[in-house]
Amino acid sequence: MKRIGLFGGTFDPPHYGHLLMAEQAYQQLELDEIWFIPSYQPPHKDDAKTTAKDRVDMTTAAIFDNPAFKVDTIEVEREDKSYTLNTIKRLKESYPVHQFYFIIGGDMVEYLPKWHRIDELIGMLTFVGVNRPGYKMDTPFSVKEVKMPLIDISSTMIREKMGQGQSIRYLTPPSVIDIINKYKLYS
Ligand code: ATP
Repeated sequence: MKRIGLFGGTFDPPHYGHLLMAEQAYQQLELDEIWFIPSYQPPHKDDAKTTAKDRVDMTTAAIFDNPAFKVDTIEVEREDKSYTLNTIKRLKESYPVHQFYFIIGGDMVEYLPKWHRIDELIGMLTFVGVNRPGYKMDTPFSVKEVKMPLIDISSTMIREKMGQGQSIRYLTPPSVIDIINKYKLYS
């Protein structure tokens, strides 16, 4: 039996906020692994600005030097709206003895009641909320809290800086910047 942190996101692109929150959840909840799950098309967001393959490549590059971090392509392979319930059902079939912790940022916590079939989902895993600047973790559900030094980096900020020709150095790892430059993403 392993304790697995599941970390879903668009990762368009992944950045140091994502990596720090995953690391803090890993340490504070004594998890065995964190699985990053890029979404094909998140239910609550507009389409990503890049392809699913670009986002998987960038996420893989972002975590390459951490043996406890993995990328799971379960959602991008399904090629439909990425409902967490479907993902968790399939993961539980494949790994019936693992315990799953689903990591979300503080901005997402208040929307949990709107998630597709949340009552069913809440019985299948433990939600973990990580604080994010500007958001309180208000929710009627029980969510484990992980604290991290607040980092006000977002994928939107990186896309905007790229669009304006500004540097994104130190906002995301060099391995991610290499892919962004190589495939001219966001410019
Ligand atoms: P965008 O700017 O495109 O909306 P994002 O930076 O919020 O993207 P996502 O891939 O949508 O990134 O986020 C995946 C998860 O990480 C979400 O649960 C989100 O709340 C959380 N998250 C992202 N950035 C941070 C941050 N700086 N601090 C805390 N949580 C974060």
